[in-house]
Amino acid sequence: MEKSKKSTKRLAAAKELNKVVGEYYLECAAAKEQGKPVGWMPPMNGAIELFYAMDLQPVFPENWSPVCAAFGLTPKNFEVSEGMGYSRDLCGYLRNIVGYVNGPMTDPAIPLGGLPAPDLLISPGGGCVPVMKIFHALERRFPEAKVFKADLPQVALEEIAPHHIDYAIQEMQRLITFLEEATGRKLDQDRLQEVAALSDQACALWDEIMSYRRSIPAPFSAAEIGIMFVMVTRQGTRQAIDFLIKARDEIKERAESGTGVIENEKLRLFWDNIPLWYNMGLFNYFEKANAVVVAETYSAAWSIRLDPADPLKALALKSLMSYPLVSCVSIEKRKEMVLKACRDYAIDGVVFHRNKSCVPISLGQMDIRKALEDELGIPSVIFDADHMDARNFSTAQFQVRIDAFLEMLAERKGQTFKT
Ligand code: SF4
Repeated sequence: MEKSKKSTKRLAAAKELNKVVGEYYLECAAAKEQGKPVGWMPPMNGAIELFYAMDLQPVFPENWSPVCAAFGLTPKNFEVSEGMGYSRDLCGYLRNIVGYVNGPMTDPAIPLGGLPAPDLLISPGGGCVPVMKIFHALERRFPEAKVFKADLPQVALEEIAPHHIDYAIQEMQRLITFLEEATGRKLDQDRLQEVAALSDQACALWDEIMSYRRSIPAPFSAAEIGIMFVMVTRQGTRQAIDFLIKARDEIKERAESGTGVIENEKLRLFWDNIPLWYNMGLFNYFEKANAVVVAETYSAAWSIRLDPADPLKALALKSLMSYPLVSCVSIEKRKEMVLKACRDYAIDGVVFHRNKSCVPISLGQMDIRKALEDELGIPSVIFDADHMDARNFSTAQFQVRIDAFLEMLAERKGQTFKT
């Protein structure tokens, strides 16, 4: 296996994604020229819907980081941020984006036109500490940008109480006032309802798409999970719906006709934690044992629904719920979700990516591992890596560990396995 390898795409939708990604970043770059205010924000909160409802341009520095990894820009960005004193132990998204904005951002040769400078910086809180720190660093880099800060609580899903929701609604209202004053644009309530309805439809399509992966054989694997791009950057738009409908139709047809992502599926795997964005080809590595990664932690972030009749409450709930759905804000809840996915998707084994640069999602893996063994008898393997920094990943160690794991899983099912 090459050190860095793109994943093999089998879905037409996954291949079309390059076009969708290109169009989004061209739109971001064009926004400046069109006089459309540009706001940078973390993903997984209700600010995106407000932006689309007010015809503002949302930009996601965290989403730009996987793009940098795919284009091989990350080492340069790390060099810049480490030169500024940012430790290699910090989140790779943080180090990448700090390096990018203080380094190659102004290079005209940056792929996809790069990111336009922000007019607005939106930091809603509620995520992890590094994500807040990214925005502190951005405030220093772009002192002319108008800054909105909220302080949403990080609260476990099962502990979200009416006072948390009331508080989050107030913060959404404060964000609307800020955006109206900063941009001179008024929020149209009917348009907000429309956008919330589109956002809800995207979530419903997402859940439907994921449900087809329960089919045996699975119609697509984690190697094609890049389709999640539209959930991160386009939620609340017609473009997201059009893309997801096409993807859904293709995946449904494959599921109904019994067409698997590989010809001879024998083992079904769950992937915990963020993918290695610089080496998505790892998801294909399992295929030598006819194994497919059919479910993963990250997909859960979009498994929420939004009530368009009460869009402010819907966006407030989304802001409170999305991040805890994938992180260890509640280890009990995450454990429950992984175990449920393992039952629903008929998982044979779990691959834990112990992510050096993301503690919030790596916490609790030992507890989940034990519960998998004790309650479901499902074995798992742990390997050490980093979602952004290839220097913290050893291909040789990964292969040795995964080969032994696949061999053991194959033996349990009475299959033969050849390395
Ligand atoms: S959740 Fe993890 S990857 Fe995401 S910003 Fe926080 S530390 Fe980084």
